[in-house]
Amino acid sequence: MTYNELKEQENQYVMNTYGRFDIALDHGEGAKLWDVEGKRYIDLTSGIGVCCLGYNNEKIIDAITEQAHKMMHVSNLFTTAPMVQTAKTLCEQTGMGKVFFANSGAEANEGMIKLARKYSYDKYGEGRAEIVTLHNSFHGRTVTTLKATGQEKFHQYFFPFTEGFAYADANDIDSVKAAVNAHTCAVMMELIQGEGGVMPLDKAFVKEVQQFCRENDLLLLIDEVQTGIGRTGSLFAFQQYGIQPDVVSMAKGLGGGVPIGAVMAAKTCDTVLGPGTHATTFGGTPMICAAANAVLSEVTKPEFLQSVNEKGEYFKKQLMAMNSDKIQGVRGMGLMVGIVVDADERAALVKQIMDKGVLVLTAGTNVIRLLPPLSISYEEMDEALAIMKTVFCK
Ligand SMILES: *Cc1c(COP(=O)(O)O)cnc(C)c1O
Repeated sequence: MTYNELKEQENQYVMNTYGRFDIALDHGEGAKLWDVEGKRYIDLTSGIGVCCLGYNNEKIIDAITEQAHKMMHVSNLFTTAPMVQTAKTLCEQTGMGKVFFANSGAEANEGMIKLARKYSYDKYGEGRAEIVTLHNSFHGRTVTTLKATGQEKFHQYFFPFTEGFAYADANDIDSVKAAVNAHTCAVMMELIQGEGGVMPLDKAFVKEVQQFCRENDLLLLIDEVQTGIGRTGSLFAFQQYGIQPDVVSMAKGLGGGVPIGAVMAAKTCDTVLGPGTHATTFGGTPMICAAANAVLSEVTKPEFLQSVNEKGEYFKKQLMAMNSDKIQGVRGMGLMVGIVVDADERAALVKQIMDKGVLVLTAGTNVIRLLPPLSISYEEMDEALAIMKTVFCK
């Protein structure tokens, strides 16, 4: 089927909720993708940070296939080994206590919010359920996580939203303190605001928030849905910030291409969600956890994480070396890279880069965001950089 034929059927049968690019993808190999008409792309998106080991990683394929032959799904009424293994690895790697499995980032954040509210309810009773999040954040698309997202444009149409969220400015501890009151139970944030524009928070600010949370028995909730699973050069970004969060959410990269989310709680609050308080049919299902185990066994290797750091530095260095007056700055950690451009120029730049065969993302109002597969090769990076250079240095 040609692109136009496919697009026509999509327009007829699929709800038009995404501003899709004019590309229909067909298959991939490593960090390369081909569209339905055979055009090849270097991919710097990894399905929005999902396909961390590329599009057809043999170890993930084998893990899924083997588990599918054995038993695809049972239900959370039974114990299964792949799920236990995923949770064990996550805890051993981070010093956290226990894990709950969900199916997406928003759902993981829902679990994190429920945990924080119940922690406070168990200890202080009703009326202490507010959560402070940051302006410019992104936490998901459910009715609750939309409201947790600190951007007014997400608080439309779907009224009434879940109540109990207040917003503070990033990198401003006084603003956080001002947003907290006797009804607050937690502070929730991304360490690098992803959708908001690849904005890393200041380390000093994050440590101050942690201290303030400890002093007031507020849970520190870290949304690592985008920054987790090796993306920033450590398994989780919080490990580079020198903090120990109370709860961490994750999703995107954890399954390497299959849907999974998880909430991970510190030992001090890992029994808050007890029997009957939280559940989901698919969470932790064996086939998906088999994929997560294949991802984690690769991504937790120190030399793998080191390579993510090196590739990230390489990207930043090569982008800066272009000396393009179109590039106003390059920021991020590991292979989460934001190129700051003129907001009015961005759409045209992205279109030219895509037309020439490199897939990129955007974030915020003026950022071109790169989230390549963590396994991208230097050859693939060089090809993508050379193409971007022809656009940035025209
Ligand atoms: C993508 C993302 C989410 C939402 O994840 P979904 O799987 O799309 O529900 C939440 N938080 C952050 C930081 C994200 O990047």
